[in-house]
This record gives sequence, structure tokens and C-alpha cells, in this order.
Amino acid sequence: EAKRGGRGTYRFFDWSMNQAATRILKIQQGLHEATTHGWFKLHYQPKFSADGRRLQGAEALLRYTHPELGVISPQEFIGIAERSGLIVQIGEWVVREACRQLRSWQLQNIGPLKLAINLSPRQLIQPDLLQGVLAIVKQEAVEPAWLMFEITETVAMQDAAHTVETIHAFQQAGFDVAIDDFGTGYSSLAYLQRFRVRQLKIDGFFTQGLDAAGEEGEAIVSAIIALAHSLGMDVVAEGVETATQLEKLKSLQCDQIQGFLLGRPMPAEAFAEKIEGWLAVA
Ligand code: C2E
Ligand code: MG
Ligand code: MG
Ligand code: MG
Repeated sequence: EAKRGGRGTYRFFDWSMNQAATRILKIQQGLHEATTHGWFKLHYQPKFSADGRRLQGAEALLRYTHPELGVISPQEFIGIAERSGLIVQIGEWVVREACRQLRSWQLQNIGPLKLAINLSPRQLIQPDLLQGVLAIVKQEAVEPAWLMFEITETVAMQDAAHTVETIHAFQQAGFDVAIDDFGTGYSSLAYLQRFRVRQLKIDGFFTQGLDAAGEEGEAIVSAIIALAHSLGMDVVAEGVETATQLEKLKSLQCDQIQGFLLGRPMPAEAFAEKIEGWLAVA
């Protein structure tokens, strides 16, 4: 309520609320400046086959360091960028930087690699999103087939009819699409059938459930995998941190895994050093 009251209302905040508001404002200003100057970084996290050996692709994850506040987690700054609308320009930077990196790796004979890029709700409702992405892809001389776009489940369902259209348009243009964080939002299985995307990414919450002693965790993951497979989608488990999780996912016929156990998000240089070894696996 107080937020909507405008500037003068801040004196009614208690000290901690005031501090939180100040932090958000600082981050928002920092993001604004960073957007103008391209002061972001992308990290790359590998996606492996379920045996944990063969590299299947990577996900680009945005990193931002505020000049005064230091490293800010995406959890915090993506939300702020989303609410301020800055995410549209930041998202453009992400697509361009990801394409630039892919092209540079291709010229060095590193790869081939399918790179996934996350899209926010605010980006998804931009009517010229696909046009913008296609323009960048052309300018940076990469192929749509090298890219995948990850859309979170909650987002996908918010305006399902529009999302179905957008997904189809991206697929028509040659891009792959994945549903991210599956199982955390409001899922309509009917729409899942209409999405027909390449990948379904099971949220880390369910991966963690595989460590528990009971059978419930496995039952849920097993059902999601069966559902996805019956609709012709590959399944990626997110947040794989333990050998137990990896073993269970393999036995449950999960297709790909992603997580700290096998590879953390890392800068492009570190990723490039490892990629040849990952791809060389027999
Ligand atoms: P996400 O797309 O679901 O990405 C997976 C998140 O899980 C990443 O967090 C990654 O670092 C983290 N992760 C990977 N493996 C593990 C693991 O084994 N254990 C744990 N605990 N975490 C793991 P990150 O990089 O902090 O990003 C958080 C979210 O921010 C992303 O979730 C995505 O929704 C959003 N995000 C990141 N980069 C971008 C971007 O370029 N654009 C947009 N729109 N959103 C982004
Ligand atoms: Mg993602
Ligand atoms: Mg996710
Ligand atoms: Mg997530």
C-alpha cells in the first residue's frame, strides 16, 4: 500500500522496510546503467545425458554485479528487471551475447552445442519478440537450430492461448523450446499437450525429493517422465546434486540431467576448456 503512495509515503515505513526499498531502488538504477553499457556476464551450465557422461547442451545464465552492493542473485535482480520492464532490453543483450559466444566457439571448432536461453513473462508478451531474436541471430551469423528457449511453466500457463502461438512461431522459425521449472506452477495438462515442446525440465524440488527414503519422490518423477515421453518430449532433471539422485533418474529413464554434481554454471572461458573433454566421451 505504502509503495503506491509515492515518495512522501516513505517516512511511514519502518527502518527495515525503508532499507529494503532503498536496496531495490539501487539495484534498479544499477541495472539501468548496466543495460546501457552491457555490464552483464553470461555463465554456462552443461546439460548431460542421464549416464552423466555425454554433453547434450548448455544453459546460459545471467550474472550481474552491482558497483556498490556486489553480486546480486538472478532470483533478486530478474524480478526487479521484470517489474521495471528493463528485462526486455536485458533479454536482448542475453540473446546477442549468447549468439556471439556460439559463433565465436564455432569459429574455433568448439562444439557443436545447443544453447538454452531463459525467457521471462514480460519478454514473452512482446509482440515483436521473435522478430527481434531473428534479427540478432542473422546479424551474429548463427543458426536457429543452435538455440533453445526456456519458458517457465507458470508463465506458459498465464496466457496459455498466446503462449501456444508464440511457441509455435518459434518452432516454425527453427528454434527449440523447453518448459522450465515444470511442476512448480499451475499446470494444465491439456495445454501441455498443445505446447508440444522439445524438452520438459523437472524443477529441482522434485530432484531433491529423490533423496528421501520413501517411494513418493520417485513416483512423482516417474509419472512426469512417463507423461512427457508419451507426448514426445525429452525430460531434463534440474538441480541434480547427489549420486543417489543421478542413479534414480537414470533408472527412471530421465533423458538429461543438469546440476552442481556434474557441472556448475561457469564463465565462457572455463566452459570452453572443459567442452572438448565432455564431447570426447565414447
Ligand atoms: P532456471 O532457468 O531454472 O535456472 C536454473 C537455476 O538453478 C540457476 O540459478 C542455476 O544456477 C541453478 N542450479 C543449477 N544446478 C543446480 C544444483 O545442482 N543445485 C542448486 N541448488 N541450484 C542449481 P540462477 O543462475 O541463480 O538463476 C535463477 C533463475 O533466474 C533461473 O532459473 C531463471 O529463471 C532466471 N534467469 C537466469 N538467467 C536468466 C536470463 O538470462 N533471462 C531470464 N529471463 N531469466 C534468467
Ligand atoms: Mg532455465
Ligand atoms: Mg529451472
Ligand atoms: Mg528456476
